[in-house]
Amino acid sequence: MEQQTDFSKLGLNNWIIKQCHAIGVKKPTPIQTNCIPKILEGKICIGAAKTGSGKTLAFALPIIQKLSEDPYGIFALVLTPTRELAFQIADQFTLIGKPMNLRSYVVVGGMDMVEQGRQLSKHPHIVVATPGRLVDHLESCNTFSLSKIKFLVLDEADRLLSGLFDRQIKTIYDALPKERQSLYFSATITDTLNLLKELVGDSVYYYEDTTSN
Ligand code: ADP
Ligand code: MG
Repeated sequence: MEQQTDFSKLGLNNWIIKQCHAIGVKKPTPIQTNCIPKILEGKICIGAAKTGSGKTLAFALPIIQKLSEDPYGIFALVLTPTRELAFQIADQFTLIGKPMNLRSYVVVGGMDMVEQGRQLSKHPHIVVATPGRLVDHLESCNTFSLSKIKFLVLDEADRLLSGLFDRQIKTIYDALPKERQSLYFSATITDTLNLLKELVGDSVYYYEDTTSN
């Protein structure tokens, strides 16, 4: 019971908390406790905590809550550097979002472009993608649009912003609406993320979990 209060204190709906319990997630981790209320408030969020500290649900739970209040088009785009991570993230969205029939779709290389385009044109709620394959879609025939997304998540932001993905990230940013809530999650704080910290103010929240470093 006490554990249930913990998640509910963060402003999450009961059905989401129930879903968390159903997958064995009972008590929020520090990055979840700190970032979830800020994301629900609408803040841009930069969160850092070591691998395994629950960063996926730190962004997935508030996104799912907002989506359940306003389902329309592709709602969130989550970028991540590897296909394996993409599938793991999409799984967590699907598991928690089951009661609202949340549809997440993974866009990574090594899969049929035409079929991917067809699935994207059906407007999944959440698209989880590696940058390269998403750009392939944006640069070929557009059967879908990212112009209505509400959330952009950079998972493993340190790796995505390391320079390796620069061209792709730029192409993707150009396809996104200016008005959106961006969330950056990372295991380490690199120089690029340090630059982002400079922006911290009324609309930008920064959290770094230092307990385990
Ligand atoms: P990170 O992205 O920080 O490396 P993940 O989000 O992949 O970590 O989470 C690692 C594992 O911990 C996942 O299996 C996830 O389901 C689980 N997990 C996340 N939050 C909690 C929580 N509050 N309580 C228990 N397990 C959790
Ligand atoms: Mg992660």
